Amino acid sequence: RERAREVLQGASRRDTNRLGVEAMELLDAYGIPTPQGDVVDSPGDAEAIAEEIGEDVVMKIVSPDILHKSDIGGVEVGVPPEEVRDTYEDLVVRARNYQSDATILGVQVQEMVDLETGTETILGMNRDPQFGPLLLFGLGGIFVEVLEDTTVRVAPVSEPEASAMLDDIESAPLLQGARGREPVDRAALVETVQRLSQLVTDFPAIVELDINPLVATPDGVTAVDLRLTLD
Ligand code: ADP
Ligand code: MG
Repeated sequence: RERAREVLQGASRRDTNRLGVEAMELLDAYGIPTPQGDVVDSPGDAEAIAEEIGEDVVMKIVSPDILHKSDIGGVEVGVPPEEVRDTYEDLVVRARNYQSDATILGVQVQEMVDLETGTETILGMNRDPQFGPLLLFGLGGIFVEVLEDTTVRVAPVSEPEASAMLDDIESAPLLQGARGREPVDRAALVETVQRLSQLVTDFPAIVELDINPLVATPDGVTAVDLRLTLD
């Protein structure tokens, strides 16, 4: 909780109310699993992180001015170590082309998660003036806008409530292992819903938060992307 507070204070010092993957530590602090990796501000440091990870990585532009990174070519998946430096430069150029005066905090170098066995879900929160923090869970990735298959509860949620959210969506069978797929780690998903519930309950300053995608696999969950707004 103390660590989470520091992350949020760091952000307010940068006088922005919008945070992205640079705030992933907030999730770490609440025990929500995130991929190995870090945000760096030079091609050399990016290479060093990639070497630590030791396999192909994902690289993402980190800028409070860029909300949907992949829309502007700001996400490169499966980058081999020898291409990390050039990719760093490419990502910055694309961001500048999109908005020449964008604040660029750097580039996130992240471990790849397996999307073959994983299902992209979304876990988010919107603070409603009347009802308070509304937790939203559903199918994530590109499906979230197309299918709008989501369910909502007021935080804080109990374990049975969190569990019920998973069964509430139309695509529930997908998580339960339809069509020969292995079921996702349900306990980890329920736990993560509760942990996010706790986080947004502890920090009323967070008015909006989205983990999209939260990748659910048979062996656990990983929060791959984060975006949040402070009041
Ligand atoms: P944005 O939503 O801002 O475009 P994301 O970080 O969500 O950026 O990345 C876009 C997409 O790239 C994700 O929905 C996912 O399909 C893929 N992706 C992102 N990070 C990873 C990762 N670490 N491993 C595998 N795929 C990833
Ligand atoms: Mg995303």
